[in-house]
Amino acid sequence: MASSPHVVVIPFPAQGHVIPLMELSHRLVEQGFKITFVNTEFNHDRIVAACSKMNSDVDAEGIHMVSIPDGLAAGEDRTNLGKLADGFMRVMPGCLEELIAQSESEGKKIRWVIADENMAWALKVAKKMGIRAICFWAAAAAMLALMMSIPRMIQSGILDEYGLPRKNEKFQLYPGMPIINTTRLAWNCAGDSDGQKIIFELVTTGNQFLEHAEFIICNTFNEIESPTLAVFPNILSVGPLLSVAHFNKHLGNFWPEDTSCMNWLDEQPARSVIYVAFGSFTVFDRRQFEELALGLELSSRPFLWVVRPDLIADDPTAAWLDDFRERTGGRGRMVDWSPQKRILAHPSIACFVTHCGWNSTLEGLWNGVPFLCWPYFTDQFLNQIYICDVWKTGLTLEPDDGGRLISRERIKGKLEELLGDEGIKARALALRDKARRSVVGGGSSHKNLERVVETMRQEN
Ligand code: UDP
Repeated sequence: MASSPHVVVIPFPAQGHVIPLMELSHRLVEQGFKITFVNTEFNHDRIVAACSKMNSDVDAEGIHMVSIPDGLAAGEDRTNLGKLADGFMRVMPGCLEELIAQSESEGKKIRWVIADENMAWALKVAKKMGIRAICFWAAAAAMLALMMSIPRMIQSGILDEYGLPRKNEKFQLYPGMPIINTTRLAWNCAGDSDGQKIIFELVTTGNQFLEHAEFIICNTFNEIESPTLAVFPNILSVGPLLSVAHFNKHLGNFWPEDTSCMNWLDEQPARSVIYVAFGSFTVFDRRQFEELALGLELSSRPFLWVVRPDLIADDPTAAWLDDFRERTGGRGRMVDWSPQKRILAHPSIACFVTHCGWNSTLEGLWNGVPFLCWPYFTDQFLNQIYICDVWKTGLTLEPDDGGRLISRERIKGKLEELLGDEGIKARALALRDKARRSVVGGGSSHKNLERVVETMRQEN
């Protein structure tokens, strides 16, 4: 009988990367694997603090959480991607090598490295140390396909050599793939021109290391991305990495979950609550935040809204928020950080107002929940195209007058339109069923994951 190897898993240091890689780790543990999960020291400390507030263990069964430095000093701005990427490249490869060497010297031989694509340098480290490697992609396969096709897009004149659009035009990489505007490519939606440069460089550097991976596995499933997966057979779909069995498992949250809202949800009528959450790093300006609050108030429906402590760039006054809470307290709840997977599975949820992060997209889809899309950054625009144009399971919020602010009336109006659309509801439920079939015996993702696991079990 082949042994179950020890695997090092290394996510990009962001919440939306730690969570799906932790889900994957739980699946590997179920198959008898041992995981060493490597966070940056900064995020490890956040996870430890969140666990301690929730009285839960940092390590999970079969998963040992360790950390390495990210190259930045305490207190440095880790939202600055340029600084972060420089820090990584300076210190992390050496630290990962040391960690692997130490584990081997303790008799715990590492047989596989699973590296987040955004940390693709770790694939090179694995190669150098003679360890087999897998690349994990935490977003849509179409996004990765676009990234891998940058040379082709430059050659065909769609992009210049810096990844910038030559023309503001819509295009389709291959038939059946989402039709996207060149200005909406992830690296061209990275805030300002510095952000564009940094992300484009991260992407092109990552592309160079992919050849070191034996598999590229992606948190998606064939039924939603078959045109892409057919053209890029080297991308293996193994998702959605979500399951009810894992609801209460440790997922490496950076903030403690406020579970009190589950009892509140139990008291709400079926399919009545608007769930509003924008992931782990979206930031609102004060005016837009207040307008959203007023839109929810105007909608007269129950709502559950995640307002992370760092959600608002320029804080509204505490008095404004207290006032809002007082006016809406009877039918609205605000929490710092929610148990989102459990919330989206709750029968009282009617729809999801989302920034369209890929995890949030899959989590809503998994539960057949209609979306109101409000994308901000990088791949969220592609995900919004999937939701609204390809799957047709949601609507988009855009400013009414070509301006920047999305008004309270627009928010209320779109919520009404979404909640009254029976076609959207039916399609969302049909997609939910396809997602669930893909991960059980005989399903497309199940078969792919089985293939990867079988290979991982083989002796070198
Ligand atoms: N999430 C959560 N509680 C919250 C908000 C988000 O558990 O209150 C989780 C969510 O379930 C998802 C992840 O955080 O798994 C966010 O990932 P996503 O890709 O949606 O967005 P990102 O944070 O990367 O922008």
